[in-house]
Amino acid sequence: MKIDLAVLGRQFELHQAEYEAAALRALRSGWYILGHELENFEREFADYLGAKFCIGVNSGLDALTLTVRALKIGAGDEVIVQANTYIATVLAITENGATPIFIEPDEFYNLDADKIETAITNKTKAIMVVHLYGQASNMEKICAIARKYNLPLIEDCAQSHGAKFAGKMTGTFGIGCFSFYPTKNLGAFGDSGAVVTDDENFAKKIKMLRNYGSEIKYHNKLEGVNSRLDEIQAALLRVKLSHLDELNSERKNIAARYLREISNSKIILPKIREDAEHVWHQFVVRTKNRADFQSYLEKNNIKTVIHYPIPPHLAECYTRLGYKRGDFPIAEKFAEEVLSLPMFNGMTEAEVDYVIGVLNNY
Ligand SMILES: *Cc1c(COP(=O)(O)O)cnc(C)c1O
Repeated sequence: MKIDLAVLGRQFELHQAEYEAAALRALRSGWYILGHELENFEREFADYLGAKFCIGVNSGLDALTLTVRALKIGAGDEVIVQANTYIATVLAITENGATPIFIEPDEFYNLDADKIETAITNKTKAIMVVHLYGQASNMEKICAIARKYNLPLIEDCAQSHGAKFAGKMTGTFGIGCFSFYPTKNLGAFGDSGAVVTDDENFAKKIKMLRNYGSEIKYHNKLEGVNSRLDEIQAALLRVKLSHLDELNSERKNIAARYLREISNSKIILPKIREDAEHVWHQFVVRTKNRADFQSYLEKNNIKTVIHYPIPPHLAECYTRLGYKRGDFPIAEKFAEEVLSLPMFNGMTEAEVDYVIGVLNNY
């Protein structure tokens, strides 16, 4: 048996007729940018989350970058962010000229809420959390700190569509920034993303920024960009959204089997936070000798990926920030030990059996 980390074609096949009908509807409408499909998707996704406004943009990175810009965060400002995230989270800060202030992760791979307060200075302009791998961060503590210091809270929800903390959807605690990159839990068939907020003025601002900074055509109030979610992707996302809960519960079933049946003391399994509902964007395990473990899996035809091998503070592009190995030992240790196991919609019982068997024989 040969198993990939993710086989995207399977979730297309799961609801193929619906996707094809939606794409044709959008094609035949004769309207391809900023039309009814997007308006409907924005309404439906906001309703799904329990938020007031959703604004579709071109990618998750744009959702984050435009959010930072709309908050007027720029040169000389600091944004608190976790050290073990995907580079895009940090690029959104530096793209606006602001400085990322990295915080070590907790045992759930999310920002360690106990380490935020000592990092706050008079330059701090926002706290950015990442619900990494599909699990909500400690929102009770983080929201309390954001309130105490009157700081906006930006949530990178690129991996957490449908994930909850204490029954409330991620993306509704602060400003929610979503990616619909094809591999995400709510993935499109191309690039797209969205910003979610309850603040009408903020929503208006993002709406202007995504369309050259204009509310009324040719009346440009802000220096905006072109970052729109097109009609075909919106139509396809509406189909996927209507199945998101079943897609997430399929992932939860695979994760439950991994957690129950992988029993090998060399493998550290993920922990679930009390109050968090995990949607298993990735099922991430750790081992001391990862290179050996990964090549063993490779030999047994199981493909795995490292999310992520280089923490942003050590990325070549951020040499100018002046960090060195040892500055964030927990994030660095995770970068050396984590490995994502195959996890995707349409994964068969036999495939899950096979992965578990191979892992237990390691
Ligand atoms: C995927 C991802 C992004 C970026 O999303 P794009 O749509 O690819 O720009 C940002 N943050 C995290 C944590 C991600 O996983």
